[in-house]
Amino acid sequence: MTDSPLFYQAGPALPEVSHAEGVSLWDTQGKEYLDGCSGAISCNLGHGRQDIRDAMLAQLDRVAFTYRTQFENAPALALGHALVGLTDGALDKVFFVSSGSEAVESALKLARQYFVATGAPQRRRFVSLRPSYHGSTLGALGVTGYRPLEAPFTTLTHASLKVPGPDFYRHRDADDDAHVDRVLAETRATIEAAGPESIIAFVLEPIGGASTGGRLLGERYLKGVRALCDEFGCLLILDEVLTGVGRTGTWFAYQHYGVTPDLLVTAKGLGAGYYPVGALLTRRDIVTEVMASGGFQHGHTYAGNPLACATGLAVIEAIRREGLLENVRARGEQLGTGLRALAERHAWVGHVRGLGLLWGVELVADPATREPFPAEQNRFAQITALAREEGLLVYPRRTLDGVAGDHFLVTPPLTITADEV
Ligand code: PLP
Repeated sequence: MTDSPLFYQAGPALPEVSHAEGVSLWDTQGKEYLDGCSGAISCNLGHGRQDIRDAMLAQLDRVAFTYRTQFENAPALALGHALVGLTDGALDKVFFVSSGSEAVESALKLARQYFVATGAPQRRRFVSLRPSYHGSTLGALGVTGYRPLEAPFTTLTHASLKVPGPDFYRHRDADDDAHVDRVLAETRATIEAAGPESIIAFVLEPIGGASTGGRLLGERYLKGVRALCDEFGCLLILDEVLTGVGRTGTWFAYQHYGVTPDLLVTAKGLGAGYYPVGALLTRRDIVTEVMASGGFQHGHTYAGNPLACATGLAVIEAIRREGLLENVRARGEQLGTGLRALAERHAWVGHVRGLGLLWGVELVADPATREPFPAEQNRFAQITALAREEGLLVYPRRTLDGVAGDHFLVTPPLTITADEV
């Protein structure tokens, strides 16, 4: 490999990709990899899709880019209606962006502007979980609870109030319900001490992604957070950048739990790796207040461009046409069963948790004490390298916030077959 002008992260040199088809990628040496994590949990329809290619080419032939303040465009309108439909109209306004971080930034700013517009400018901070991940731009980083990412930038971010979420693997309460009730009571106390009237919104991932290795929060907890938001008059922002658009077997993960957010953000799977597109969804009454106060003071150049939206629309149509939500549920059961069998065979597989095709595997030094491996052993990097050698891509992390150690995500494309699982 020649010297590269690119810099992303420290680590071993990477193979160069040659081409891809379905759930497989090949490098230029001819080695095949099963895409067990859909890239960054983004390539949700697999690779080399002719239908997405055709939809994109048709749009390119018409018009690739228009600016949102100069023209309406049919793909943006259609994708907006489609996304509203996926929430059954519960969220009926859409703002397009190009990435998850941009979607989170948009949600934070809209929520803040809503309270400025409605005479509550003292609401100036967010509540979010530690650990969590909401993106790498400074606003999104402010609500992220992941110390290695936060550390260099604490003087630049507007840090949220960080609270722990439930941990169904390590808690020592009488049972899961008692655990959730205790976590919620402590969160309430933290918010009360900080002043509930200062809170704009609670921001959380309904199922932890890379930050916690697929940790589930569960219905009792999410309903409890919704109730706290209602009681304290703040908004609930759900970050479905990773869980949205079918990943968990429903269009959005919140639909498993009967908890409706006030704002929802999604990205990754919406463009399915074919083009960057993300969205903020919210309610009309929130948008009406902001618009009446002079408009949303926010926007990105590529927001809602025709090519992005034609791609997103083709992705949603493919998920519908191919019954992929059903596939996610069936293949998810199969994958979960297989991963749990790993835990039976290997002591270092501590916990397997997930929903649909979003599974996390946590590695432990001692399954009895649930003690994580020491950080310097770099187990998450080792397991990734071993899997790669075997031709399998997984998505690894080490959480350094005292609650979980090494883990990896198994999140294959929603199109995966029983044999490929
Ligand atoms: N929110 C969550 C839950 C994510 O998993 C991610 C990315 O991993 C983001 C936000 C940021 O998205 P992006 O990398 O597209 O900016």
